[in-house]
Amino acid sequence: MTTFGFELLGSDGQARTGRVSTAHGAIQTPAFMPVGTAATVKAMTSESVKATGAEILLGNTYHLMLRPGAERIAKLGGLHTFMNWDLPILTDSGGYQVMSLTDLRKLDEEGVTFRSHIDGSYHKLTPERSIEVQHLLDADITMCFDECPPFPCEKDEVARATELSMRWAKRSRDAFVDRPGYGLFGICQGGVHEDLREMSAKALIDIGFDGYAVGGLAVGEGREMMFASLDVTTPHLPTDKPRYLMGVGKPEDIVGAVARGIDMFDCVLPTRSGRTGQAWTPGGSINIRNARHAEDPRPLDANCACPACTNHSRAYLHHLTKADEILGAMLLTWHNLHYYQDLMRAIRQAIGEGRFSQFQADFAATRERGDIEALSI
Ligand SMILES: [Zn+2]
Repeated sequence: MTTFGFELLGSDGQARTGRVSTAHGAIQTPAFMPVGTAATVKAMTSESVKATGAEILLGNTYHLMLRPGAERIAKLGGLHTFMNWDLPILTDSGGYQVMSLTDLRKLDEEGVTFRSHIDGSYHKLTPERSIEVQHLLDADITMCFDECPPFPCEKDEVARATELSMRWAKRSRDAFVDRPGYGLFGICQGGVHEDLREMSAKALIDIGFDGYAVGGLAVGEGREMMFASLDVTTPHLPTDKPRYLMGVGKPEDIVGAVARGIDMFDCVLPTRSGRTGQAWTPGGSINIRNARHAEDPRPLDANCACPACTNHSRAYLHHLTKADEILGAMLLTWHNLHYYQDLMRAIRQAIGEGRFSQFQADFAATRERGDIEALSI
């Protein structure tokens, strides 16, 4: 039986590389988790997600509890079996989606009552129910139920939400059924306020978790403020547990957050942008719909090993996207996920070899150079 755990394999400055062990296998960190909202990473088969090198997926409690329902997924063998993904899965608590996707909601000490965005039916999510749903889904990593305040937000309101989230964190811990290979992460809140972040981190450590997430960032505060908030948060988190920055982000955000001691990330960006014609390359993001690609026989990225780059030209991807062909979304999503996993591999290697600062400088310089020169037609 695997026990859930984190092994720190190396560090370089604040940046760390390590391994999280779970019931469904190990995750090398820093790690990027593709988002599989409704038991699917949109436009990708499980095999193709695995082929990009992803070792863990994120599933959404809110979406799955509404459709097809957590009890139904449990009856069908859990989320791994249901979606044919035998590697680790992390599920969020549903709190963030309840706040961002539902209009009608009532929040009190007990939890949140809301109406489904699908059919208008009423539901109640409490710390206990969120943990139960995540157990039914068979998540290797379960997240505490919390309230994520919006940005901007009055400090008093952030303090209220943070204190409530800490009481919910305790209830989440009490509701979590400990079993070998499964872990529960606490979520540090406190917005952009140093004192609240410190208070939140201490409250979580007192309760005791298998990992610590930083929540409430990437909600519109901007990169500078996000990095400043991390600077006053990660020093308060235990060094022997994984740290997860929720909902981040752009490649440059990930590199900057790794430099500040973060180990895990998730974001819809590579998948969502793949469906709108945006591709991520070492030179930055490009819009494949742009006319400059219409007769370009070169690959998106000559150094990328994904099918979009090894089998197809920019001109073909441009055509597929312009014609709204499903294959365009599939290939760009595959490429973007592959790019993100390549980035994480390179980050882990650089930290392991003690040259992360050089990696950061090279990453920025390549970004600065931008996309390859357009062909003169
Ligand atoms: Zn590619």
